[in-house]
Amino acid sequence: MTATRQHAEELVEEFSDHLELDVEEVDEQLSELVDEYTLPVEEAVRSLRSNYIEDAGLESEDALSSNDEVLVNEPDEDGQWVDIRVTVTDLWTPNSDSIAQVGLVGDESGENKFVSFETSDLPELEEGESYLLENVVTDEYDGNVSIKLNRTTEITHLEESVEVGDDTEEFDGVLIDIQSASGLIKRCSHDDCTRVIDSGRCSEHGTVDDPIFDLRIKAVFDNGLETTEAIFNEEMTEQLTGISLEEATAIAEEKMDTGAVMDEIFELVHGRNLHIEGPRYNEYLLVDEYGPSHEVDTTAVADKVRSI
Ligand SMILES: [Zn+2]
Repeated sequence: MTATRQHAEELVEEFSDHLELDVEEVDEQLSELVDEYTLPVEEAVRSLRSNYIEDAGLESEDALSSNDEVLVNEPDEDGQWVDIRVTVTDLWTPNSDSIAQVGLVGDESGENKFVSFETSDLPELEEGESYLLENVVTDEYDGNVSIKLNRTTEITHLEESVEVGDDTEEFDGVLIDIQSASGLIKRCSHDDCTRVIDSGRCSEHGTVDDPIFDLRIKAVFDNGLETTEAIFNEEMTEQLTGISLEEATAIAEEKMDTGAVMDEIFELVHGRNLHIEGPRYNEYLLVDEYGPSHEVDTTAVADKVRSI
């Protein structure tokens, strides 16, 4: 066997999960680089390998090595290539044409957000079904690490169901404050971004001309002993306040100030004594259920709030 032939076989094997390479063709390309361009064979291999990494849409050589299989809530930094074994627990409507699917996947560690893109051209995941997802990459934003599928992701449907652990937390307390960037907010409309924009600008994409409106409350709850921060999404905010996204937009237009929505919401919700439930992402409890609370001594909280 020639030296180039052996290297060609190794390259084909190395990229077998990502590209359909032909040993003959790779061998020919290597020979051409070595014979005609007089590159040392190692140099020729390195050159072809970096082309293939690009062709495969991989960000670096690290993505090639076989990944660790991890729990969905284990990764804690951006850009980690991993395999996960999960059940799809929720799918919601993407807010951008570039997104094929967005939702939650879970395993024993609880749930995490995932997204897949139209350009990746992957088979659709079904809610309630379990899958082995190989070669997914983590995406960190605002301290939250979520899962991105990409065109190198391999999806295997699993017969056995992956059990999803309960990472729900509860808190009983009085809603003592709402934080800025509550009420009617604008999100970046750039593909796959959704960052909250400040003064018309996205920290990543600059000026945003056609922002996506969203409604939420970032609330602070106090039970007299400790506080917690919680986020009510659009649906939960509408339930809690009776104000829909359309109504919020109308209020903002009428007052010519999005801040008017936050003021109105504050009047409606502050001082309410609630039991809230949901998964926790960093400092925020993401409320997916709430009701009146009967556990908290509201006088104690009132005394404490008054003393601040
Ligand atoms: Zn953006």
